[in-house]
Amino acid sequence: IRWTEGRGWHDAQLTPYAPLEMDPANMTLHYGQSIFEGLKAYRQPDGSIATFRPEANAARFQSSARRLAMPELPADTFVEAVELLVQQDRDWVPTEPEQSLYLRPFMFATEVGLGVRPANEYLFVLIASPAGAYFPGGVKPVSVWLSEEYVRAAPGGTGAAKCAGNYAASLVAQAQAAAQGCDQVVWLDAAEHKWVEEMGGMNLYFVFGEGDSARIVTPALSGALLPGITRDSLLTMAADLGYATEERKISTDEWKQANADGTLTEVFACGTAAVITPVGSVKSARADWTVGAGEPGPVTMRLRETLLGIQGGTVADTHGWLHPIVTA
Ligand code: PMP
Repeated sequence: IRWTEGRGWHDAQLTPYAPLEMDPANMTLHYGQSIFEGLKAYRQPDGSIATFRPEANAARFQSSARRLAMPELPADTFVEAVELLVQQDRDWVPTEPEQSLYLRPFMFATEVGLGVRPANEYLFVLIASPAGAYFPGGVKPVSVWLSEEYVRAAPGGTGAAKCAGNYAASLVAQAQAAAQGCDQVVWLDAAEHKWVEEMGGMNLYFVFGEGDSARIVTPALSGALLPGITRDSLLTMAADLGYATEERKISTDEWKQANADGTLTEVFACGTAAVITPVGSVKSARADWTVGAGEPGPVTMRLRETLLGIQGGTVADTHGWLHPIVTA
């Protein structure tokens, strides 16, 4: 679907996958007006297909567009585009548990020009790709690197938007994490390098205490971290399961201390791609420690099974999060 100033959205097309032609002076290549979303279509037990909270992705896409001075795609057009593509690609939605069809809506400037200003033409595109289970051999905790050298986002910046530049800025830290033998980067706040924000493509959760009296804490939205849809769903889902939940600031010192004294029992990351992933160990330039027992914890696994169950249609969807795709 194209957008042109003065004309709005026009020329929606459903076409076979093919390369896009691009002018070397395409403004996106120079000034980075590029935003995207990620969501999945899940096979249901009766063979039908559903997506998970596409309206939430549509709303976040609009908020990313506002931050990048881009036009907002109407939410119902976004959801309709998702429906049309999934209907078209229905045979590509896997039937095995934990597998899905990953959907990538994105928008970028198509105007040709070399002046720094918001472009006057954009293209919204939606592509799909089957996604396997994140942990084909069973859930395995990830190791994380606390990045004290680089920051992903600062207050007033684009951290709360899902824009390409945030990911470009994160690559060097991800390489540093890999060089330290870690799977993922944990981003800290820009001012004090002290407050935990999120991971490269996932939000973080901390579990204090055990069993039914566990308290589940996630860093509060600061404007510098992405408001994950999985994060948001988990706040509701965890409360449904009887856990106390809290959004607040959490520092690396608290993380280390509470881990050492045993009050912090589990840590996990959550996102559309990784669903819920336990964090097993932490490393920074100054310290390293094992999280809890270093194994996937019971609260983490319970939340993971429940979320996968809602998405896969085996656990009751009491909040109407599943969006059925009609494929008659
Ligand atoms: N943080 C970042 C930086 C991400 O890229 C993602 C993935 N979209 C998330 C968090 C998790 O968001 P969601 O649950 O909506 O996938």
